[in-house]
Amino acid sequence: MSSVKEKRFKKLKRKKIWPSIVAFIMFIILCVVMIALFLQLFALYIMGTKIVQQYGETQHVKAVLEGFLSNGDTITEAVDNLHKYTSAGSDVYVIDRQRRMAAKTGLSEPDFSMVLDFKLNQEFGLDASFMAVADNSNPVIQEDGVYTIFAVPVDEVIRETFTWKEDRNGIGTWLSDTLITQKYWLRTSLGGGEYELYVKCTIEVQRQDIFYICIFGIIALLLLMIPIILLFINTVRSIVTQRRMTQLIYLDAVTGDRNWFYFQNYAERILTRLRNSRKTFAIVNLHLERYQNYCACYGVKAGEELLEATDGFLKARVGKNESFARYEGADFGMLLCCEGENGQECQENCRKRLRSLAAELTGLKPDQKIHFQAGINMIAPYIHEDGKWYHARKDVDVDQFYTYANAARTAAAGVQDQTVAFFDQELLDKQVWERWVEDSMEEALNNEEFQVYIQPKYSPLNGKLVGAEALVRWISPTEGFIAPNRFIPIFEDTGFITQLDDYMISHVAKLQAEWMIRDRKMVPVSVNVSRAHFAQEGLADHICELVDAYGPRHELIELEVTESAFFDDKDILVETVKQLKAYGFRVSMDDFGAGYSSLNSLKDIPLDVLKLDGEFFRGEDDDGRGEIVVKEAIQLARNLDMRVVAEGIERKDQVDFLAGQGCDMIQGFYFAKPMPVSEFEEKVEKDA
Ligand code: C2E
Ligand code: MG
Ligand code: MG
Repeated sequence: MSSVKEKRFKKLKRKKIWPSIVAFIMFIILCVVMIALFLQLFALYIMGTKIVQQYGETQHVKAVLEGFLSNGDTITEAVDNLHKYTSAGSDVYVIDRQRRMAAKTGLSEPDFSMVLDFKLNQEFGLDASFMAVADNSNPVIQEDGVYTIFAVPVDEVIRETFTWKEDRNGIGTWLSDTLITQKYWLRTSLGGGEYELYVKCTIEVQRQDIFYICIFGIIALLLLMIPIILLFINTVRSIVTQRRMTQLIYLDAVTGDRNWFYFQNYAERILTRLRNSRKTFAIVNLHLERYQNYCACYGVKAGEELLEATDGFLKARVGKNESFARYEGADFGMLLCCEGENGQECQENCRKRLRSLAAELTGLKPDQKIHFQAGINMIAPYIHEDGKWYHARKDVDVDQFYTYANAARTAAAGVQDQTVAFFDQELLDKQVWERWVEDSMEEALNNEEFQVYIQPKYSPLNGKLVGAEALVRWISPTEGFIAPNRFIPIFEDTGFITQLDDYMISHVAKLQAEWMIRDRKMVPVSVNVSRAHFAQEGLADHICELVDAYGPRHELIELEVTESAFFDDKDILVETVKQLKAYGFRVSMDDFGAGYSSLNSLKDIPLDVLKLDGEFFRGEDDDGRGEIVVKEAIQLARNLDMRVVAEGIERKDQVDFLAGQGCDMIQGFYFAKPMPVSEFEEKVEKDA
């Protein structure tokens, strides 16, 4: 299924979960990075402060030495005198331009193989480059007990290594215990660039430094925890809301179970997953008949309870790889897996299963009569000519298949005792045809694609042409010749038949008028008027207007009303017939004897002509019962002062029989088939 609805739903699903989760994860990462950065900055700040302090001491040593040098001391003398002016332990090491040792104090020396250049920026009140050199008596890289932290950043981060030193002597308070001691040499120039002075410094990390860093870290963490917790709550809430929304989207408001949308998704998933399996599936439309009536009698609530019970019942009956949901109203859609060795067996088993389901469902309300009907659309696996199984059920549109199942059920709705109906190609062709007719009919009428054919009526006594019937033919530019039984029922269903009847009446009136002007032989021509027309008030006036637009004499137009029209509002019908007669038109009862004849209508309606249905003359009449019925029907019509036309007469013996019975006119292939107007005109000429 790839409906807009589904796309929207998927979008909503993605939209609801992922932004929250992604935002949450991003925020956590951001917080961790920020805390790490803060901690590092803070640690560096502490370290930087210490280095700056030692830089100050280095500058002091430099100033003292510069003083000695300016007094004329050699560098060796200056260095020797240094201890008098600086604090104890400030070892110095001086090299000349040739990088030879010029003077030194103390035992240790800078290790020039490990030089670090770094810079402290203005945060420390300085803007100077430093060069630190490792002390050879205190190597910075040790195998064990090496404690590494990140240090001295600014333009670049330089890794410094410090040795971990346990303070066993417990000097000072616990907080001021030195945990890490690192000796190194700071470089500065001396004697206007004559020498390079290295002053030995000691950097110490006290417990309080670590403590401050930890406190800072904890505070930063606590502060960040608040938005993290809030964001976490928000994320969880949006996930829960999204879940609830998903459930709601999948919830049927009436049954409280999974709804159609879920069914569509799930059924399509099953069919796609098992697209290559040899299983046969069926999409079913299960319909509770007369649900509206049930609700009207027992209340909407009771109706909904019945649907809920039906849902519960079906839930217990569907198995693995099957599903169902309410579609709308009292219709349920089901995806069933059909057992069987071949297609026919699967179909038969499916029929049995649905029949028994429908039978069991009627037991839901033992005191009330409920009836279920099912339409089934089989989805068989597809076997290629080479015997291989192919992707048969990929991209199955469940909605479309359900529509077919529904069409099968609807087509069988009027058929008694047909609980289960299958969809087949014939039904699809019918649907496609109906659609084509509906889409094309208006344009066809405007384009005059409907043509008047005329079938003559003859006197059985002398074989003379005494009348005719106008019958429509659709000559379509795409479909060719189309017989009326292929489109008249559709026109009747859609109500378009009234427009066609008007069209035919107008055309026949026009023909009669033309014949009159051309002084041709004139016979009454009958036009069929559908029952749908007789439901309209003012029909007689309407027909009168149509005919009068061309001006032929009214008695030349006969109106054939099919027998089924007599079941509609009889009062209107009687009134219309009377008016038509008053206007001078003839009115006949078409197809008398077909379907449910109503002798009663003959009593009430003052008709001119009775047309005996062609079915009276079909097949064999060995025991002569058919002849008796026709004979009595003709007698009845004569007694009622009606003329009789026998339709569908194909044989000479039938003509002779009817002549003997006093039938007035005969219409049938024996004399002539319906023909185009030009042919009819020629025939009239010849007969005359
Ligand atoms: P209908 O009004 O009873 O027309 C008589 C039908 O019997 C015509 O079928 C005619 O061709 C056929 N028929 C006549 N003689 C014989 C025969 O000897 N043997 C056989 N087998 N059939 C014969 P058609 O023209 O196919 O029309 C079928 C029906 O369609 C008509 O039955 C009428 O109910 C309807 N129809 C046709 N044209 C119109 C129209 O313009 N308006 C309306 N409302 N209905 C029309
Ligand atoms: Mg007719
Ligand atoms: Mg007829």
